[in-house]
Amino acid sequence: MEIMPTPVVEINSEILREKNIQLFIKREDQNHPTVSGNKARKLKYNLEKAKEEGCQTLLTFGGAYSNHIYATAAAGAIHGFETIGVIRGEETLPLNPTLAFAKSKGMKLHYVDRTKYRLKNSLIVINELKRLFGKFYTIPEGGSNKEAIIGCAEIVTELNSVYDYYCCSVGTGGTLAGIIHGLEGIGKIIGFSSLKGEFLTVEVSSLLSSNGFEIHDNWEISGQYHFGGYAKFPDELRAYMLGFEKQHEIKLDPIYNSKALYGLFDMIKQDKIPSGSKVLFIHTGGLQGRKGFDLD
Ligand SMILES: *Cc1c(COP(=O)(O)O)cnc(C)c1O
Repeated sequence: MEIMPTPVVEINSEILREKNIQLFIKREDQNHPTVSGNKARKLKYNLEKAKEEGCQTLLTFGGAYSNHIYATAAAGAIHGFETIGVIRGEETLPLNPTLAFAKSKGMKLHYVDRTKYRLKNSLIVINELKRLFGKFYTIPEGGSNKEAIIGCAEIVTELNSVYDYYCCSVGTGGTLAGIIHGLEGIGKIIGFSSLKGEFLTVEVSSLLSSNGFEIHDNWEISGQYHFGGYAKFPDELRAYMLGFEKQHEIKLDPIYNSKALYGLFDMIKQDKIPSGSKVLFIHTGGLQGRKGFDLD
């Protein structure tokens, strides 16, 4: 997969001047015309491995609004793979914009109920999928595996400058794990969880160690800015996001980047980021998800 070099742009605002913070955004949302964002980074080495293993079909998992399902369908179509999306829940028609796009790219949509979806990594479910679809290369939910970590590490290894802080949103934790791996203990890394719950620190640690990478100790996950949980988009967040977009002419997504940036600015307001710091925020993309929230 061709990943285009993306610009790092400086953000100016009153509060940043007042607190003496330099904030830059790495525009990973612009790294690919369709696949885009951290999902393109995660797929890059998975596609190579699938080819090496002689697999012509990619199978992966996701909810009905999943950026990863969207990205896998797009990448599969470009690179000549058949794709199968195992979708949580029942089919609802008409298809939402994410699934309609996936289908238009040739993805076969296979719906499973929530109980079975929870067991998606078990041998029983995998064997059933093999009986149904034959040989395939499995990409986990959210795309987070060893190849994803190696791909996401490149977000930071290709940078030309060093920062005091590196920030990004967190869903399954694969992107954060990649950034931790790529920085090899340099700087401070803050992940902003868009999910409720405290399980992600364990999850990221185990993603690193189970794949043979060092865990390091220069990172933390803030669990305070999920706004009620995954896919929750209250009016306060909507207003913040639209305000940011207007002021800085950078579009955000409602699920991940809007929450993470809100959190970062809140930490800056509370002096949790020291004066004089140089901060990099990684825009992970996900702009396709705006359609489901009637934002364009
Ligand atoms: C999937 C996604 C995330 C979360 O990435 P993880 O690696 O699952 O933590 C963040 N931002 C966007 C736009 C995403 O699509």
